[in-house]
Amino acid sequence: MTGERVMSRLIDTHAHLDLLAEEGIAVADAVARAREAGVERIITIGIDLESSREAVRISEAHEDVFAAVGIHPHDSADYQSHTERELRALASHPRVVAIGEVGLDYYRDRSPRDRQRIAFRHQLDLAADLGLPVCIHCRDASQDMLRILTEHARKPETMVLHCFSGDERLAAKMIDIGCHISLAGPTTFKNAMDAAQVARSIPLERLLIETDCPYLAPVPHRGKTNEPALLPLIAQRVAELRGIPLADVARATAANARDVFDLP
Ligand SMILES: [Zn+2]
Ligand SMILES: [Zn+2]
Repeated sequence: MTGERVMSRLIDTHAHLDLLAEEGIAVADAVARAREAGVERIITIGIDLESSREAVRISEAHEDVFAAVGIHPHDSADYQSHTERELRALASHPRVVAIGEVGLDYYRDRSPRDRQRIAFRHQLDLAADLGLPVCIHCRDASQDMLRILTEHARKPETMVLHCFSGDERLAAKMIDIGCHISLAGPTTFKNAMDAAQVARSIPLERLLIETDCPYLAPVPHRGKTNEPALLPLIAQRVAELRGIPLADVARATAANARDVFDLP
Protein backbone atom coordinates (compact mmCIF):
# COMPACT_ATOMS: atom_id res chain seq x y z
CA MET A 1 0.00 0.00 0.00
CA THR A 2 1.54 3.33 -0.99
CA GLY A 3 1.76 6.38 1.22
CA GLU A 4 -0.71 8.21 -1.00
CA ARG A 5 -3.29 5.49 -0.47
CA VAL A 6 -2.84 5.49 3.26
CA MET A 7 -3.48 9.22 3.20
CA SER A 8 -6.56 8.83 1.03
CA ARG A 9 -9.16 8.36 3.78
CA LEU A 10 -11.92 6.70 1.85
CA ILE A 11 -15.46 5.73 2.82
CA ASP A 12 -16.90 2.37 1.75
CA THR A 13 -20.59 3.21 1.34
CA HIS A 14 -21.80 -0.35 0.74
CA ALA A 15 -20.36 -3.50 2.31
CA HIS A 16 -21.86 -6.75 3.54
CA LEU A 17 -19.58 -7.34 6.50
CA ASP A 18 -21.94 -9.99 7.91
CA LEU A 19 -21.29 -12.15 4.83
CA LEU A 20 -17.49 -12.10 5.25
CA ALA A 21 -17.70 -14.70 8.03
CA GLU A 22 -19.06 -17.19 5.49
CA GLU A 23 -15.87 -16.57 3.50
CA GLY A 24 -13.73 -17.29 6.55
CA ILE A 25 -12.88 -13.63 7.22
CA ALA A 26 -13.39 -12.24 10.73
CA VAL A 27 -15.14 -8.86 10.68
CA ALA A 28 -12.63 -7.42 13.16
CA ASP A 29 -9.74 -8.38 10.84
CA ALA A 30 -11.47 -6.89 7.80
CA VAL A 31 -12.16 -3.64 9.67
CA ALA A 32 -8.54 -3.45 10.87
CA ARG A 33 -7.19 -4.05 7.35
CA ALA A 34 -9.58 -1.43 5.98
CA ARG A 35 -8.34 1.17 8.44
CA GLU A 36 -4.73 0.37 7.51
CA ALA A 37 -5.64 0.84 3.84
CA GLY A 38 -7.10 4.28 4.54
CA VAL A 39 -10.78 3.28 4.62
CA GLU A 40 -11.97 5.22 7.62
CA ARG A 41 -15.71 4.51 7.51
CA ILE A 42 -17.71 1.51 6.34
CA ILE A 43 -21.46 1.24 5.93
CA THR A 44 -22.56 -2.37 6.34
CA ILE A 45 -25.85 -3.16 4.63
CA GLY A 46 -28.72 -5.49 5.40
CA ILE A 47 -30.52 -7.60 2.80
CA ASP A 48 -33.20 -9.10 5.04
CA LEU A 49 -34.26 -8.75 8.67
CA GLU A 50 -31.62 -11.09 10.04
CA SER A 51 -28.74 -9.41 8.20
CA SER A 52 -30.15 -5.98 9.14
CA ARG A 53 -30.05 -6.98 12.81
CA GLU A 54 -26.51 -8.25 12.27
CA ALA A 55 -25.51 -4.98 10.55
CA VAL A 56 -26.64 -3.09 13.65
CA ARG A 57 -24.71 -5.47 15.93
CA ILE A 58 -21.54 -5.04 13.84
CA SER A 59 -21.89 -1.25 13.86
CA GLU A 60 -22.18 -1.32 17.67
CA ALA A 61 -18.96 -3.31 17.94
CA HIS A 62 -16.78 -1.22 15.59
CA GLU A 63 -16.56 2.52 15.76
CA ASP A 64 -15.64 2.86 12.06
CA VAL A 65 -18.74 0.95 10.98
CA PHE A 66 -22.27 2.24 10.48
CA ALA A 67 -25.36 0.29 9.44
CA ALA A 68 -28.13 0.34 6.84
CA VAL A 69 -31.24 -1.78 7.33
CA GLY A 70 -33.59 -2.96 4.61
CA ILE A 71 -35.09 -5.76 2.56
CA HIS A 72 -33.35 -6.57 -0.74
CA PRO A 73 -35.55 -7.09 -3.83
CA HIS A 74 -34.63 -10.79 -3.73
CA ASP A 75 -36.33 -11.04 -0.35
CA SER A 76 -39.26 -8.74 -0.95
CA ALA A 77 -41.84 -11.49 -1.64
CA ASP A 78 -42.72 -11.71 2.05
CA TYR A 79 -42.43 -8.03 2.91
CA GLN A 80 -45.27 -7.36 5.35
CA SER A 81 -46.38 -4.83 7.90
CA HIS A 82 -44.48 -6.61 10.70
CA THR A 83 -41.33 -6.49 8.51
CA GLU A 84 -41.73 -2.75 8.23
CA ARG A 85 -42.36 -2.40 11.97
CA GLU A 86 -39.10 -4.15 12.75
CA LEU A 87 -37.17 -2.12 10.15
CA ARG A 88 -38.56 1.04 11.70
CA ALA A 89 -37.48 -0.12 15.17
CA LEU A 90 -33.99 -1.06 13.94
CA ALA A 91 -33.65 2.25 12.11
CA SER A 92 -34.11 4.16 15.37
CA HIS A 93 -30.72 2.84 16.50
CA PRO A 94 -28.17 5.69 16.50
CA ARG A 95 -25.69 3.72 14.35
CA VAL A 96 -28.22 3.25 11.52
CA VAL A 97 -27.56 5.81 8.80
CA ALA A 98 -29.69 4.55 5.88
CA ILE A 99 -32.45 2.28 4.63
CA GLY A 100 -31.04 -0.38 2.30
CA GLU A 101 -30.49 -2.20 0.36
CA VAL A 102 -33.80 -1.90 -1.39
CA GLY A 103 -34.79 -1.77 -5.05
CA LEU A 104 -35.65 -3.85 -8.08
CA ASP A 105 -33.88 -6.85 -9.59
CA TYR A 106 -35.51 -8.10 -12.80
CA TYR A 107 -32.33 -9.95 -13.74
CA ARG A 108 -32.60 -12.68 -11.14
CA ASP A 109 -36.34 -12.23 -10.48
CA ARG A 110 -36.10 -14.03 -7.15
CA SER A 111 -39.27 -12.28 -5.96
CA PRO A 112 -42.29 -11.53 -8.18
CA ARG A 113 -41.87 -8.10 -9.76
CA ASP A 114 -45.09 -6.68 -8.34
CA ARG A 115 -43.95 -7.68 -4.83
CA GLN A 116 -40.57 -6.07 -5.49
CA ARG A 117 -42.24 -2.81 -6.47
CA ILE A 118 -44.47 -2.85 -3.39
CA ALA A 119 -41.58 -3.49 -0.98
CA PHE A 120 -39.48 -0.86 -2.74
CA ARG A 121 -42.18 1.83 -2.55
CA HIS A 122 -42.88 1.04 1.09
CA GLN A 123 -39.23 1.31 2.03
CA LEU A 124 -38.80 4.57 0.09
CA ASP A 125 -41.70 5.96 2.09
CA LEU A 126 -40.24 4.57 5.32
CA ALA A 127 -36.91 6.26 4.60
CA ALA A 128 -38.61 9.55 3.80
CA ASP A 129 -40.61 9.23 6.99
CA LEU A 130 -37.49 8.64 9.07
CA GLY A 131 -35.45 11.26 7.22
CA LEU A 132 -32.88 8.65 6.17
CA PRO A 133 -31.10 8.20 2.83
CA VAL A 134 -31.71 5.06 0.74
CA CYS A 135 -29.22 2.59 -0.77
CA ILE A 136 -30.78 1.36 -3.98
CA HIS A 137 -30.10 -1.83 -5.92
CA CYS A 138 -31.27 -1.86 -9.54
CA ARG A 139 -30.66 -4.58 -12.08
CA ASP A 140 -32.39 -4.73 -15.47
CA ALA A 141 -35.20 -2.58 -14.09
CA SER A 142 -34.20 0.95 -15.05
CA GLN A 143 -37.57 2.03 -16.50
CA ASP A 144 -39.55 1.05 -13.41
CA MET A 145 -36.78 2.42 -11.22
CA LEU A 146 -36.90 5.83 -12.86
CA ARG A 147 -40.68 5.92 -12.72
CA ILE A 148 -40.89 4.93 -9.05
CA LEU A 149 -38.10 7.26 -7.97
CA THR A 150 -39.66 10.15 -9.86
CA GLU A 151 -43.05 9.50 -8.21
CA HIS A 152 -41.79 8.64 -4.74
CA ALA A 153 -38.58 10.46 -4.14
CA ARG A 154 -39.41 13.21 -1.73
CA LYS A 155 -35.72 13.95 -1.23
CA PRO A 156 -33.91 12.58 -4.26
CA GLU A 157 -30.56 13.96 -3.10
CA THR A 158 -30.57 11.22 -0.47
CA MET A 159 -30.96 8.41 -3.01
CA VAL A 160 -27.84 6.36 -3.76
CA LEU A 161 -27.80 3.97 -6.69
CA HIS A 162 -25.31 1.41 -5.51
CA CYS A 163 -22.95 -0.64 -7.70
CA PHE A 164 -24.24 1.24 -10.72
CA SER A 165 -24.23 -1.02 -13.77
CA GLY A 166 -26.12 1.05 -16.33
CA ASP A 167 -24.71 3.13 -19.17
CA GLU A 168 -23.89 6.80 -19.41
CA ARG A 169 -27.40 7.77 -20.54
CA LEU A 170 -29.05 6.09 -17.59
CA ALA A 171 -26.52 7.65 -15.23
CA ALA A 172 -27.39 11.07 -16.67
CA LYS A 173 -31.11 10.48 -16.13
CA MET A 174 -30.56 9.37 -12.54
CA ILE A 175 -28.37 12.39 -11.89
CA ASP A 176 -31.05 14.59 -13.44
CA ILE A 177 -33.59 13.46 -10.87
CA GLY A 178 -31.07 14.10 -8.08
CA CYS A 179 -29.54 10.69 -7.27
CA HIS A 180 -25.99 9.97 -6.21
CA ILE A 181 -24.19 7.15 -8.00
CA SER A 182 -21.88 4.70 -6.29
CA LEU A 183 -19.22 2.79 -8.23
CA ALA A 184 -17.82 -0.61 -7.28
CA GLY A 185 -15.36 -3.26 -8.47
CA PRO A 186 -16.75 -3.62 -12.04
CA THR A 187 -15.31 -0.17 -12.80
CA THR A 188 -11.88 -1.85 -12.68
CA PHE A 189 -12.79 -4.71 -15.03
CA LYS A 190 -10.99 -4.61 -18.38
CA ASN A 191 -14.06 -5.21 -20.54
CA ALA A 192 -16.18 -2.63 -18.74
CA MET A 193 -16.53 0.02 -21.46
CA ASP A 194 -19.81 1.40 -20.11
CA ALA A 195 -18.44 1.43 -16.58
CA ALA A 196 -15.42 3.43 -17.69
CA GLN A 197 -17.58 6.00 -19.49
CA VAL A 198 -19.92 6.25 -16.52
CA ALA A 199 -16.96 6.77 -14.18
CA ARG A 200 -15.87 9.72 -16.34
CA SER A 201 -19.30 11.22 -16.74
CA ILE A 202 -20.65 11.45 -13.18
CA PRO A 203 -20.26 14.92 -11.66
CA LEU A 204 -17.75 14.64 -8.82
CA GLU A 205 -20.30 15.99 -6.34
CA ARG A 206 -22.63 13.04 -7.05
CA LEU A 207 -20.02 10.30 -6.92
CA LEU A 208 -19.61 7.67 -4.21
CA ILE A 209 -17.52 4.50 -4.05
CA GLU A 210 -18.08 1.12 -2.43
CA THR A 211 -16.81 -2.45 -2.41
CA ASP A 212 -20.15 -4.34 -2.18
CA CYS A 213 -17.95 -6.94 -0.48
CA PRO A 214 -17.73 -9.93 -0.38
CA TYR A 215 -18.83 -9.71 -4.04
CA LEU A 216 -17.18 -8.13 -7.08
CA ALA A 217 -13.58 -7.81 -5.95
CA PRO A 218 -11.69 -5.24 -8.04
CA VAL A 219 -8.83 -6.14 -10.38
CA PRO A 220 -6.31 -7.74 -9.62
CA HIS A 221 -8.40 -9.67 -7.08
CA ARG A 222 -11.30 -10.34 -9.44
CA GLY A 223 -13.08 -13.61 -8.58
CA LYS A 224 -11.72 -13.68 -5.03
CA THR A 225 -13.38 -12.54 -1.80
CA ASN A 226 -13.74 -8.77 -1.68
CA GLU A 227 -13.35 -6.69 1.48
CA PRO A 228 -13.27 -2.98 2.35
CA ALA A 229 -9.45 -2.86 2.33
CA LEU A 230 -9.63 -3.21 -1.47
CA LEU A 231 -11.58 0.04 -1.86
CA PRO A 232 -8.43 2.05 -2.74
CA LEU A 233 -8.11 0.00 -5.96
CA ILE A 234 -11.56 1.21 -7.03
CA ALA A 235 -10.77 4.81 -6.09
CA GLN A 236 -7.48 4.57 -7.99
CA ARG A 237 -9.22 3.29 -11.13
CA VAL A 238 -11.83 6.06 -10.96
CA ALA A 239 -9.01 8.59 -10.63
CA GLU A 240 -7.19 7.13 -13.66
CA LEU A 241 -10.34 7.11 -15.78
CA ARG A 242 -11.12 10.72 -14.89
CA GLY A 243 -7.49 11.82 -15.21
CA ILE A 244 -7.43 13.40 -11.77
CA PRO A 245 -5.35 12.65 -8.66
CA LEU A 246 -6.48 9.88 -6.33
CA ALA A 247 -6.54 12.42 -3.52
CA ASP A 248 -9.27 14.39 -5.36
CA VAL A 249 -11.44 11.29 -5.78
CA ALA A 250 -10.91 10.41 -2.12
CA ARG A 251 -11.71 13.90 -0.88
CA ALA A 252 -14.83 14.31 -3.01
CA THR A 253 -16.31 10.84 -2.44
CA ALA A 254 -15.66 10.93 1.31
CA ALA A 255 -17.22 14.39 1.60
CA ASN A 256 -20.25 13.23 -0.42
CA ALA A 257 -20.62 10.15 1.78
CA ARG A 258 -20.48 12.27 4.93
CA ASP A 259 -23.13 14.58 3.50
CA VAL A 260 -25.53 11.92 2.24
CA PHE A 261 -25.28 9.61 5.28
CA ASP A 262 -24.62 12.34 7.83
CA LEU A 263 -21.52 10.53 9.09
CA PRO A 264 -19.20 11.96 11.74
ZN1 LIG B 1 -27.05 -4.74 -4.54
ZN1 LIG C 1 -25.11 -5.09 -1.74
